[in-house]
Formats: sequence, C-alpha cells, structure tokens
Amino acid sequence: MKIIDILQQDKVTLSFEVFPPKKESSFESVQNAARVIAALRPDFISITYGAAASGNSRFTMKLADSIHRDFGSEVLPHLTCVNSSHEFVKDMIQSYKELGIDNIMTLRGDLPEDGNVTGDYQHASDLIQDIKSQGDFCIGGACYPEGHVESKNKAEDIKYLKLKVDSGCDFLTTQMFFDNNIFYNFLYRIREAGIQVPVLAGIMPITNASQLGRSVQLSGSNVPERFRAIVDYFGSSPAAMKQAGIIYASEQIVDLIANGIKHIHVYTMNHPDVAAAIMSNLSAILNN
Ligand code: FAD
Repeated sequence: MKIIDILQQDKVTLSFEVFPPKKESSFESVQNAARVIAALRPDFISITYGAAASGNSRFTMKLADSIHRDFGSEVLPHLTCVNSSHEFVKDMIQSYKELGIDNIMTLRGDLPEDGNVTGDYQHASDLIQDIKSQGDFCIGGACYPEGHVESKNKAEDIKYLKLKVDSGCDFLTTQMFFDNNIFYNFLYRIREAGIQVPVLAGIMPITNASQLGRSVQLSGSNVPERFRAIVDYFGSSPAAMKQAGIIYASEQIVDLIANGIKHIHVYTMNHPDVAAAIMSNLSAILNN
C-alpha cells in the first residue's frame, strides 16, 4: 500500500523507524527488534539506509522485505544517491518492485569528507525524478525545520525543498526537533511557499545523555533549555533518563496533535521498549 494513501485517511498516523545491522551476524537481533515494533501496529515502519561504504546498504532491502512480508507492516525503505549510479538505482528499484514494495524514502545522503559528490546524482531531487520515471512509487523526502546544515539560510533551503516536491515527492519527513514552535513556524513558511504535501513531524526520544552529544549535534537541532535541564539532572541515571526522554517526546507529540498535526514519525532506533512506551502513552489519544 502506498503511504500517501495512509496519510490521506482522516486520522492521526504514527510511524516508527528502524536501522539495518552493519553485519549479517547481527541481522537476526535487528529483525527480532523489528518484529516487536511491527507488532505494535504503527501505520508504517521506515528503514534507514547506510552509506554505501558502510557495507550495510543491502540489509535495508532485506529488513524491509521481512517487515513487510513476515510481520505485515507497511514499509518505507530509505535510499541515498550520493556517489551512486543510475544503474545501481535502477536495479534497486526493480528489486523493490518485485518485492511488492511501493514506497521509497529518497535522500541524497551525507557528503563524503572531501565534500565532492561523484556519481550520477547531485541532490535528492535528481533521485526522485529518476525513480518517478521508473514506476508508480510513492516517494518521501527529508526536510529540515531549522534549515539543512549546508544551506545559506532557511529561505534558500525552502526554495530547494519546493524543487524537491515539484520533482515528485509525495510527502516529507522532518529532521528531529525538540521545540515544537520551530516546527509550527517551518510549516507556516513552507505552506506559504506553496508546498502542500503532508509533512510528518520527526520526533526523537532521547533516552540516554550521550545521544545529545552524537545524533543531536550531527543534526544541528536546537536543544531547548527545558530539555537540557532534564538531561543535566537525569543524565547520569540511565533508567530515569530513559523515562524522562520518553515523557518529553510523548509531550511533544501530544502538543503536536492538539495543534492539528496529523502525522508523527518517531525515531525509535531499534528499541521496541521505547516504541511500546510511546504507543502506550498515546493509546487513547491515537484513537480519539
Ligand atoms: P537534498 O534534498 O539534496 O538537500 C541537501 C542540500 O542541498 C540542502 O542544503 C538543500 O537546500 C540543497 N539543495 C537541494 N537541491 C538543490 C539544488 N538543486 N541546487 C542547490 N542546492 C540544493 N542519511 C542516510 O545516509 N541514510 C538515511 O537513511 C537517512 N535518512 C534520513 C531521514 C530523514 C527524515 C532525514 C531528515 C535525514 C536522513 N538522512 C539519511 C540524512 C540526509 O541524507 C542528510 O541530511 C543529507 O545531508 C541531505 O539529504 P537530503 O535528501 O535532504 O538532500
């Protein structure tokens, strides 16, 4: 089923994200985590794509196929295009078609260290046009409420986001954010710029203090004082930090839904317990 058809139903949607293992020997444990996450019945599960050099790119398809076929959840496998070729993408797309997977999350991927993009694609919009020409796929793309790190300013980023959507992107998922006002402001600006596709709000439950250093710094997301105080206070106590991080993310989601936001994507990162806690915190809200 196409994700755009799920998003167009008149209901709040909740989706989760998992990432593939780096080596075959870890596949089963990741698959088991995905099985438990799928049993929570999210609207779909996205599966990230490692940079080609990381060696785990082939596991994205294998994991997506298993979640789709064995666990019965709709899937959104990611595909990056930096340093990739038309031929490689054509093969991937053909394989997804054969597996009966209708959705692809299209990304450029992070630039190599020297900043030089080789291969057939410069931007995600090039990949979108290529995939659109090869079949009837539902296509997602990334967006950045605080601006992409390489962009000169937010206006320029939104100009290129419009180009991405006009290239055939059916919906957008945001980079993680911790301050909902940043998201509301972004939504207002992109709607004014004529971007009308559904936007999934990306929420990352921060469940240990070191995540603030790693993923959050990389994403460039602003960390509000309120959340910084939580990490300062509970960071050295793993169980308390986890609970506080889940509560913070749940509160963000409640506020989003109360303000009319219909689609929430949670970066659950192979943690079924985090996914289950979020689902449980929202059980009545999602059925409202
Ligand atoms: P693009 O849309 O190509 O944009 C990149 C930059 O180029 C932006 O600054 C944009 O403003 C600018 N730009 C776009 N088009 C043009 C143009 N025509 N001319 C000039 N400038 C332009 N990375 C992974 O490796 N694997 C993943 O699975 C993955 N999943 C992600 C999921 C989400 C929801 C998000 C938000 C990010 C994800 N990323 C992933 C990270 C992503 O690959 C990086 O943020 C990357 O740096 C940009 O990818 P993009 O698709 O947004 O690129």
